[in-house]
Amino acid sequence: MTKETSAHQNVDDKEIEKFQSLANRWWDAEGDMKSLHDINPLRANYIDKLANVSEKTVLDVGCGAGILSEGLAQRGGIVTGIDMGDELINVAKLHLHESKLDIEYQVTSTEALAEKAPETFDVVCCMEMLEHVPDPAAVVKACANLTAPGGHLFFSTINRNPKAWLFAIVGGEYILKLLPKGTHQYEKLIKPSELASYVRQAGCQVDEMCGLEYNPLTKNYFLSKNTSVNYMMHVTKPA
Ligand code: SAH
Repeated sequence: MTKETSAHQNVDDKEIEKFQSLANRWWDAEGDMKSLHDINPLRANYIDKLANVSEKTVLDVGCGAGILSEGLAQRGGIVTGIDMGDELINVAKLHLHESKLDIEYQVTSTEALAEKAPETFDVVCCMEMLEHVPDPAAVVKACANLTAPGGHLFFSTINRNPKAWLFAIVGGEYILKLLPKGTHQYEKLIKPSELASYVRQAGCQVDEMCGLEYNPLTKNYFLSKNTSVNYMMHVTKPA
């Protein structure tokens, strides 16, 4: 498979390798990616509620093996998923035989696709990826470029503060083992104020934010107003 490249490649190969090593287990709902499976209905419903994805063109940036892409296709979205991990994209394509969904998957960087297909998508989602790239502001800009005027964008990442370190890294990776060890580096986590400034620099506006919390007793995730650890941001591009 050929990889789309761009003059300004904004990819950390070690991060891609880390995720590729999990490719074969990506669709095991009880495996290493369990937390992505567990949060998927919550985030797919959140996106659908705010952007009504049915019959809309949807781009899932950093889609991995397609957990969110499939969730949005099930809700009627016309979905394209992109990722820099070719093995992940292969697993995503294979999984379509099982799910019987129709999704277009491509190995490309966000920036390269933005050059080729500007203002193409009604809805652009970039979940759990910004904290793994060298220049997250550039990805936000490319996502904004890919969005049609009047369209919606959704980002999710992890806040950067002592509580987020304790809950998401120490608690999540080492104590509760919700995520593989080494998934996140503290310095690369992103404060909502930083993400909001990338959004504004890209000419878009923040509509709302919500927290994604975990209850270790019930082992359930839920949406809340508390953005101190995991959070999602809904953004709109002016018409
Ligand atoms: N968004 C998916 C997967 C999150 S894991 C979900 O929430 O279910 C992070 C994903 O981002 C991995 O699949 C990894 O390969 C991808 N990724 C990391 N850096 C990237 C980049 N610069 N361009 C495209 N994909 C990237």
